[in-house]
Amino acid sequence: MVQRGLVEELLRSGVIWMCALCLKCKERCPSGVAPCDIILELRNIAVERGLPFPEGYSTLMFSVLEQGMIQAPQEVATRQMELVDREKLGLPSATSPRDMAKFSRAMEKVME
Ligand code: SF4
Repeated sequence: MVQRGLVEELLRSGVIWMCALCLKCKERCPSGVAPCDIILELRNIAVERGLPFPEGYSTLMFSVLEQGMIQAPQEVATRQMELVDREKLGLPSATSPRDMAKFSRAMEKVME
């Protein structure tokens, strides 16, 4: 769509928010095509223009700013449907950055 000049349609379609930014396209494409780079740029343009974006992104960003994580650690279900947390799995606790105020300032600077 970008090659065809349909940037406005892309910006308003919502499809640019579906990319998980897993970077597989960038790492594996034998032709060196990186759609994720274009998608990221389109997202930046959309936000700069004040176009709507999925509400989940705001929630995610505020969570990172407030907790240093996209979400608090949660229990997961095993194959036997037992709910386990990190401690039960023998994993170290997932904690927020030590200096949350410093972390938040750094994040705000990145977001400027
Ligand atoms: S476009 Fe690329 S980065 Fe985005 S989800 Fe698909 S493979 Fe991953």
